[in-house]
Formats: sequence, structure tokens, C-alpha cells
Amino acid sequence: MRGVVMRTPGDVRVEERDNPKIVEPTDAIIRLTATCICGSDLWPYRGVEPADHQVMGHEYVGVVEEIGEQVTTLKPGDFVVGSFVISDNTCEICQAGFQSKCVHAEFVAQIGTQAEKARIPHADGTLVATPGQPDDDLIPALLAASDVLGTGWFAADAAQAGPGKTVAVVGDGAVGLMAILAARQLGADRIIAMSRHPERQQLARYYGATDIIEERGDEGVAKIKELTGGLGAHSVIEAVGTQESFMQAVGATRGGGHLGYVGVNHEVKIPGIELFFAGIHTLGGPAPVRRYLPDLIQRIWNREIDPGKVFDLTLPLDQAAEGYRAMHERRATKVLLSI
Ligand SMILES: [Zn+2]
Repeated sequence: MRGVVMRTPGDVRVEERDNPKIVEPTDAIIRLTATCICGSDLWPYRGVEPADHQVMGHEYVGVVEEIGEQVTTLKPGDFVVGSFVISDNTCEICQAGFQSKCVHAEFVAQIGTQAEKARIPHADGTLVATPGQPDDDLIPALLAASDVLGTGWFAADAAQAGPGKTVAVVGDGAVGLMAILAARQLGADRIIAMSRHPERQQLARYYGATDIIEERGDEGVAKIKELTGGLGAHSVIEAVGTQESFMQAVGATRGGGHLGYVGVNHEVKIPGIELFFAGIHTLGGPAPVRRYLPDLIQRIWNREIDPGKVFDLTLPLDQAAEGYRAMHERRATKVLLSI
């Protein structure tokens, strides 16, 4: 089968890889319909993280081809959406809703779903079948549920976005945009998007943003305070992962408010004293997407939400290298690879 391999930072190839086989009785083999490139794939691409002939990709939708003998909830032919973290969905941590910290957690990035096929361990606990075969136009939305939508939703939930709340979203990438969608669905009164890109501001408004702030850092915090009677937002979502964005998010949260942080942190140092005096609730980390998948799939199936609009470039798998380049050069927010 063909699959993406990053030989060294910036060198993305589509190469022949071994066909996956059932190894454990809880495995499923899926034939991918679509996959995509994540903002986090740019870390190794840019050399911030190492890359040495590594397989790539952790977002995926596809059709079950084969199941192990202990798989009970899926059968060959089912169309499935999977989380970007493997989970058994039965251990104590999973039962508490934190499937991304499952005792059997394994990052799908190690499996590499930018490929024609993938072996998914703990298939019952990781994959969710859709109610039937989806129409083609639903595929991007279902694919978004695999990570960016699930992650944005978790962030909004962690920030306790809801009726009566003002929500501020730091970050206008795919996850930030999905967090806006989630905050809107969860009933937030006011949603402030922090963005300085006109086309992303437009998408932010489409997904439910009521206000846009272009300032960053301390100026961005001051602007949020200005819009909230000097108090700060009830709910703040951090969807970038840099020092500036994180501190901006902490500063924008009102005392007693909630910060949900899902931007993968790189070299971020949070001064304890600032966090201490902020007096806020914080919850973040890799999103337990599996917890939200059944609900998100149903909302997509009912066409209540349209997260698929975050993909602004679609390429065949063979042109993955161009997809990486487009995201690296910010010519695309998120690239869908069709298989
Ligand atoms: Zn578990």
C-alpha cells in the first residue's frame, strides 16, 4: 500500500509500505477514504521535532476491511471515524471520559494514517461506525471529527462554554475555528475570536464568532477586558501552544473562570506566580475525542453542523508533499488528502 513517510524534516514522500495485518484479536484493518494533514505535523516538517523516515498522519475515516475475532461493535463494510488516540474505552480512565489517557493509549501518529490502509488496535474502543454509508459531501465533516472538531469541542467543554458565558478563543487555526463552532453549539452568548487573517475571521464569523480581536499578547488581553467590563472572559480556549498565546489565554480568563487548552505546547513556561494569582480553573491536554464521537457523528449526520469547511485544500494522497508545503507556507489552513 502507499503511505506518507517523512524521511527528514521537510522531505515528505509517498512510498510503498507493508499492508497492515490483524495482530491482536481486538484489531481492525480499515481502508481509508480520507485523511488530512494536521498543524502538529508541521512540527517535524519544520525540524522543531525530529523526523527520521517516520510514518505520518493521525486523522482518518474509512471502511472496515477486516476485524479481529474479539471485535464486537464493528463489521467489515462499516464506515468508521476514529480518534487520534487509541483507547480501550473500558478502563477506569476511559469510563471517566478521558480516553486520550487510557491505560492502553497509543498515538495513531505512530501508526500513520496518511496511507491507504491502517491497523487500528482496540477497534471497539477507538472507532465509531456511522449510521450508514455517508454521502460524499459528509466525508470532510466526519474526518474533522477525528481530531480538530473533537479537540475544539473538548476545549469548549473544558472551558465550560455555555449559556450566559462569554467565550474567548485564542488561535484561528482549524482547532480554534472548531472551538468556536462548539461554543456556539453549547449555547455561549458571546464568542470572541482572536484573529488577524481576514479569511479566517470570515470563517470564525461563519462558525459563530460575535466579535473579532486582532491584537495579541497583553494588548489582546486588554481588549478582552475592555469587551467584558474589565472582568475577562468566563471561558477561554487556547488553541495555539506558544508562550505568548498561552499567557494571553491565562490573562484573558476572569477570576473563577475556565481555561481549556489544547494547543500542543512547545517550550512554554508558565510562571507559577501568574497562574497562582489568576485564580482560574484549567483543563487541557490531548482531547478525549472518543468521548465526543458518537454525539459529533450524529450532529454531522443530521447536518446540524458543518465542520468540513475547515478544509480549504483537497489533494490526492500522492500529492501529500504539496499539501505539507501549502500548510507550511500558510497557503492552506488544513489539507484533506483523498485516497
Ligand atoms: Zn481505557
